[in-house]
Amino acid sequence: MNQRLSSPSLPLAFFVGLLLATLALSAHAGPAQNQAPAHAPAGVLVPVDAKTDATWLTKARVAYPLDRCPVCDDKIEATASSNVPEYIYRVAGKPDRLVRFCNDAECVPSFKKDPDKYLQMTEETAATKTPVPSK
Ligand SMILES: [Zn+2]
Repeated sequence: MNQRLSSPSLPLAFFVGLLLATLALSAHAGPAQNQAPAHAPAGVLVPVDAKTDATWLTKARVAYPLDRCPVCDDKIEATASSNVPEYIYRVAGKPDRLVRFCNDAECVPSFKKDPDKYLQMTEETAATKTPVPSK
């Protein structure tokens, strides 16, 4: 009688032990995975304003490779620069980058959702437009 009651407790103890060991292992593995994030640190989009470094801004405008909005691909009229929403995309440890949009209300929120995607498109477009150095 006693044996029939006590025998089921042995597998139960085994499974509880296994469960605890699994939990301990997964808890240990969790932080290790977080140490290598798949995504780069998120940047912030800062509007160009009176506090923006004018020297930097002038250079960035001259060097800016696109005449189109990186989000919707609408053409941006370079001559109407005062009407173009300009932003600085700022990531810690990286140089600031100028970004121009055609439309504050529509394209800026889209950019913020996935800045890496649009910045990559910007770079790819710039690469195709930049003539090969003939040195
Ligand atoms: Zn746009």
